[in-house]
Amino acid sequence: MASTSIAHRARTVPAGEPDLEHVSTIVPRAFPLRLSARLQRGITLAEERFEEIVRIAPYVWEVPSCSGDRRYIVDLKHASCTCPDRPPEGERCLHASAAAWVKAKTATCSGCSERFRHRELFEVQESLTYFESDLLCRECWQGSDAEVL
Ligand SMILES: [Zn+2]
Ligand SMILES: [Zn+2]
Repeated sequence: MASTSIAHRARTVPAGEPDLEHVSTIVPRAFPLRLSARLQRGITLAEERFEEIVRIAPYVWEVPSCSGDRRYIVDLKHASCTCPDRPPEGERCLHASAAAWVKAKTATCSGCSERFRHRELFEVQESLTYFESDLLCRECWQGSDAEVL
């Protein structure tokens, strides 16, 4: 009867979607999770407080504490942070992790120089003002001659 039950389960997974029940049993062994606790907490902080994590100078970011009543200054170039945490060699504190995460998820608008999530930016295809593949926020795009992808 084993083959019957497998066939039945296969039919319950919509076409084109992975069988997650199967994947979840093999992935942890095939790809051991290497995220440090600081990185995981940093990602959570970055997702929850995205708007409050701001770049204030080249490589320098202001990041709220988890409780939100303090703000720390992270220097991504020197991997330093003004918080009391002293992570082991090769690890970032959770604020530096959060800043690095937001940096990776955002880019600068070529028009107004503000940072936006990638999905809020449009890539220039043709323009007399901007270079091809420059990124523009919606406002800068709509106020320009740019054709976007
Ligand atoms: Zn920190
Ligand atoms: Zn803009």
